[in-house]
Amino acid sequence: MICKLTDNELVSKIKIKVKQEKLIVVEVLNYLEEIDRRKVFVDYGTSSLFKFCTRILKYSDAEAAIRVKTIHALKFAPIIKEKIKDEALNLTTAASLYSFFKNNKITNRFEVVNKVCGRSAREVKDILNSLSNNPLPRKLTLTLPEYLIKKLEKVGLDFEDCSELEVIESLIDKHLEQVEHSKAKRKPTKASTSQRHIPRDVREAIDKRAKNRCEGVSPITGKRCNSRVSLEYDHLRPIALGGESSKENLRKLCKGCNQRAGVKALGLHKMAQRTGTETTPSIPFFMENTEAGLQYSFIMPGR
Ligand SMILES: [Zn+2]
Repeated sequence: MICKLTDNELVSKIKIKVKQEKLIVVEVLNYLEEIDRRKVFVDYGTSSLFKFCTRILKYSDAEAAIRVKTIHALKFAPIIKEKIKDEALNLTTAASLYSFFKNNKITNRFEVVNKVCGRSAREVKDILNSLSNNPLPRKLTLTLPEYLIKKLEKVGLDFEDCSELEVIESLIDKHLEQVEHSKAKRKPTKASTSQRHIPRDVREAIDKRAKNRCEGVSPITGKRCNSRVSLEYDHLRPIALGGESSKENLRKLCKGCNQRAGVKALGLHKMAQRTGTETTPSIPFFMENTEAGLQYSFIMPGR
């Protein structure tokens, strides 16, 4: 009975419990790391590790974001896990290291990790700023007025299961795609002879069939993914195995489904060689309900 403990016993017991809690955090990171490596989250109808954490594991957005960033930080500096285990680093600092390594070319990451060990959040920020060859990522916070929220909700009806932030990301992606497309149109190019080239009529036929949504189907829920974010064309039978760029052999997949399909078709080792450590999903945005309205925070790369 906790209420029967002396003050000293209370403090020494909570110290033990906190130690155990931290070890469990490391164990959870191990599991999340493997899930990310295999892209298993795709099978559960979630197109990113972040969504898997919020929808399947029921973490809050902030809890999920910090864990996902820590997993990506480990790809830059595996030592971070040991430091978390030793209580020299917390998840918040690990997440800051991810943003730092992503935006800076650092040769001695080990040294940077050591420099921030045991430091407060403010000290970590100052240290990373002083080491940065780029300014730290900017955080852009938008407060949307009611009429814009209404418009966003209207557009969102087309996106079913997507959050408002995914809708915004998709709209931006679509705009960028259109800009790229019109640039390509202006530049007359020789028809590609590459096997990877997908003829325009084939692309149009797939787009029509897919209705601009991911055609991946979860083997667990049997549901179609339907994501509209970061869509790519995927060869059902890989080109390396003689697959063709035909409508029948191609499907439109979101990045997550495409990577999972790659892991299943080629195995983890080949996929890791192909994608390296740079294939980190987009960093989640954060949404907050404030008195002024819905507030969105985006992490922007430093300039
Ligand atoms: Zn998908």
